[in-house]
Amino acid sequence: MGKTVLVTGGAGFIGTNLVARLLATEGIDQVRVLDDRSAGDHGTLADLTGEPTHPVGNLTDPVGNLTDPVGNLTDSRGSILDPSALAEATDGVDAIVHLAARASVPESVANPVDSHAVNVTGTVRVLEAARQAGNAQVIVASSAALYGADPTLPTPETTPPDPRSPYAATKLATEASTMAWSATYDLPVLPLRFFNVYGPYQPPGHVYAAAIPAFAAAVVEGTPVTVFGDGSQTRDFVYVDDVAWLITRAITHGLTSPVPVNVAAGTRTSLLEIIDRLGQAAGTTVATEFGPPRAGDVQRSQADISRLQALVPSWSPTPLADGLAATLDWMRVHLRGR
Ligand code: NAD
Repeated sequence: MGKTVLVTGGAGFIGTNLVARLLATEGIDQVRVLDDRSAGDHGTLADLTGEPTHPVGNLTDPVGNLTDPVGNLTDSRGSILDPSALAEATDGVDAIVHLAARASVPESVANPVDSHAVNVTGTVRVLEAARQAGNAQVIVASSAALYGADPTLPTPETTPPDPRSPYAATKLATEASTMAWSATYDLPVLPLRFFNVYGPYQPPGHVYAAAIPAFAAAVVEGTPVTVFGDGSQTRDFVYVDDVAWLITRAITHGLTSPVPVNVAAGTRTSLLEIIDRLGQAAGTTVATEFGPPRAGDVQRSQADISRLQALVPSWSPTPLADGLAATLDWMRVHLRGR
């Protein structure tokens, strides 16, 4: 019997890529999504063909068991804060991937209480539901945002947290609850601190859009790219299908960790370099405009990934050039379809 996996927030950016990979993985029979579409209904789950969305790097077949699409997807529109929707979605699950969150820093600044309710209370409800489901494995999305403005680089997980936004505070609390449920109830958990995830299905067009989709859309449309600040700020960009691969492997191999694990490529790249590389991949010169730096923007970011490498020795991130090319390919199709 294969596993039944619930992905909360599964209709979002990372969720869509993950669901695609889960559906194509032998040993996973049923995939459920619980998502209230509060981040918008991108309709992306309906696009899925049952194959990993855009595997381009070294991790294309590392699990070694991709199969024909199994297609067993149950997509429920509902909130993790709704006890009956959560109970139904978690009934009989073997694993929960908890991605549902208010994922935007500026939104958390505007509506901190809402962010707390979804991200913190929501996580506690999901952990409790995992317990009710007979101690299902729970893989939880945390964020490098909790390292704050100026951590040591590369940043190990042992760095003292320095939450600088309500969002970062919710992720710290998310991790704390996850670790507490592991210690108190022996819940098998895996808290993952994502750095800057990018790739197909990351929406470009909204006010809080992340840098890469905003840049990729501008490159495809031939409009100037807007950079906030001087563009020298660096990020540790990790390709979304690598994250989907990692989570899938954690489920198939039952990987857990009582402490948080950084998820990143372990490199740092400036925004100007990203623009340059996108231009090269598209074969165009990109006009760049500069806006004022955004409040709270971190100048430098790079993960120490030794804990991740110890957990998954075959971790081998997709080269940036390949990930950016796949992102541009997806963006062309996405923008044409609008
Ligand atoms: P996303 O906004 O695309 O996906 C989150 C999904 O959660 C959305 O589809 C939204 O509708 C859903 N959701 C929100 N509130 C909900 C609720 N109450 N009940 C059910 N569903 C709800 O964001 P993403 O980029 O895919 O991020 C996924 C997770 O990873 C989030 O927890 C985010 O904080 C974390 N994360 C992402 C990044 C990144 O670079 N994308 C970095 C660090 C951490």
